[in-house]
Amino acid sequence: MDCLFCKIIDREIPGDIVYEDDQVLAFNDINPQAPTHILIVPKQHIATLNDIKEDDLALVGRLQYTAAKLASKQGFAEDGYRVVMNCNEQGGQTVYHIHMHLMGGRRFTWPAG
Ligand code: AMP
Ligand code: ZN
Repeated sequence: MDCLFCKIIDREIPGDIVYEDDQVLAFNDINPQAPTHILIVPKQHIATLNDIKEDDLALVGRLQYTAAKLASKQGFAEDGYRVVMNCNEQGGQTVYHIHMHLMGGRRFTWPAG
C-alpha cells in the first residue's frame, strides 16, 4: 500500500521511533511544532477518523493511552500537553493513515489558529 506511515511501520523508510508495541508505533514528527512532537499511529491502516469501525475502538483508545504514557515519560504530563488528530483536507490532514500528534514542552493557546 502506498502509505507513508505503513512504510515507516514496515521499516521500508526510516522513522525516529520512540515507542512500539504489537498494535502501535510512535515516532518523532519530521517537522516538529513543539519541543516534543511525537506521532502515535496504529499499525493497522485506517485512512481517516471517519473510517474507524466499532471493532477499532480499543485501538483508538490505545493511541490516547500511549500519548499519556509518553507524556509522562517525557516529563510534561503534569505541566500539560496537547494531542491533536486532523481529519481530511479542511482539518489539515496530509497523511492518510490516522495518527495522534502529541506535543509538549511549551505552552499552547486556545482557540488554535
Ligand atoms: P497531518 O497533517 O495531521 O496529516 O500530520 C502529518 C504529519 O506527518 C506532519 O506533522 C508531518 O510533519 C509529519 N511527517 C511527514 N512525513 C514524515 C516522516 N517521514 N517522518 C515523520 N513525520 C512525518
Ligand atoms: Zn497506512
